[in-house]
Amino acid sequence: MGHLIPLVEFAKQLVHHHHISSTIIIPTTGPPPQSQISVLESLPENINHVFLPPVHLPENLTNVESQILATMSLSIPSLRNTLKLLSSTNQLVALLVDPFGLDASDVAKEIGVRPYLFFPSTAMGLLFCMHLPKLDQMVTCEYRDMPEPVKLPGCVAVHGRDLPDPVQDRSHHLEYAEVLENMTRISLSEEIIINSFLELEEGAIKALQVEEPGKPRVYPIGPLIQTGSSDRSDQPECLKWLDDQPSQSVLFVSFGSGGTLSHDQINELALGLEMSGQKFLWVSRKPSDKSDAAFFDVHSQTDPLGFLPKGFLQRTEGQGLVVSSWAPQIEVLRHGSTGGFLTHCGWNSTLESVVYGVPLIAWPLFAEQKMNAVMLNEGLKVALRPKANEIGIVKREEIARVVKELIEGEEGKKVRERMKGLQDAARKELNKEGSSAKSLFELAFRWKNQKNI
Ligand code: UDP
Repeated sequence: MGHLIPLVEFAKQLVHHHHISSTIIIPTTGPPPQSQISVLESLPENINHVFLPPVHLPENLTNVESQILATMSLSIPSLRNTLKLLSSTNQLVALLVDPFGLDASDVAKEIGVRPYLFFPSTAMGLLFCMHLPKLDQMVTCEYRDMPEPVKLPGCVAVHGRDLPDPVQDRSHHLEYAEVLENMTRISLSEEIIINSFLELEEGAIKALQVEEPGKPRVYPIGPLIQTGSSDRSDQPECLKWLDDQPSQSVLFVSFGSGGTLSHDQINELALGLEMSGQKFLWVSRKPSDKSDAAFFDVHSQTDPLGFLPKGFLQRTEGQGLVVSSWAPQIEVLRHGSTGGFLTHCGWNSTLESVVYGVPLIAWPLFAEQKMNAVMLNEGLKVALRPKANEIGIVKREEIARVVKELIEGEEGKKVRERMKGLQDAARKELNKEGSSAKSLFELAFRWKNQKNI
């Protein structure tokens, strides 16, 4: 969902402002989750979608990144057929691939279509991909054991332990080599579209745009966020509950479309929220020791809440509301009662908070989220970040302290003000004169006037 949503929004911009139609092509390993189907079925007429036939994954793939990469490469034959079919009735001008789909760039070239990498994350993350081959040469230990932080041009310094998850275990040679290869290929793309904007990542974007031979051309087109339905007639329970809460009083707690916590951590989070005395709306999923366990679990929407601490739901009635697995996040973030967001720092969630001016508690789980948390907490200072203990658990006292601070403390006030500043900047970006709108215009102009490569 984190990659699909910004692509869909990009397609909407192309249709609405530039009359360019799109087809979203999605590889699968089984029946797609309902959340994906709902997004795709609500699209305007000129945005179509195709689910590629399911592929069968080898059983030895342990991490999500390897599973997605394998899904993509096993789907190449059916992607090729789909593109050929499309090109027989349409004039194809570009193929946008996400960072897991670089194999598809070759297919694009085969059929004479220009490939673009759609990088749905930060400019800082892209700089990291470009820097990794050098880091790999220079460093022999695990990155988390490096004495000095990594300093990417124009970015806040990042300690090795906060670098993206897939590079954290170099001892698993095969998986690390696969990630290294993919990140190297990312930086070899000729044209890259990123969902970010100048005032959010000024140093990093300027560094990416310094012209050098062999360097990709980078188009920042953000912040593109999900344009959720505002149909109040079908309002879920949690929005009705928010309507009854005081202005900016509620902390929204959610870990994206697939994030999960361990049993012990859920316990501490529940008791910490209770102890804070602050209002909360928590999207909760059944515990797992893998932090991204719900991504391949299409049935997780039906989890009951039986794993919460005994008596928690009764004791916090009136203080908080817990919903299972999924909430209409956009509607929650733009609701006047929402005063903060405890987030896993997924890039879409981050951009959505920026667009609605909601200050953050950064609780990164996997992928590049720790790096995002450093940027939000130490760089932009729009997030507080709770500290975990020596075994990686954030204890209830720490959770209660940070939640209180964000909603009613002095530090929270400053964080909120800075987030409002970013919100204003984000609004300007997508106005006609904004630099993201100009990048979009430039791409659309080129595609409309292009016959083939
Ligand atoms: N989302 C939502 N409701 C939920 C959880 C997630 O609407 O309960 C949406 C959220 O608004 C965002 C996307 O799913 O647009 C999650 O993307 P993100 O990049 O934040 O995290 P990921 O799911 O990729 O880890």
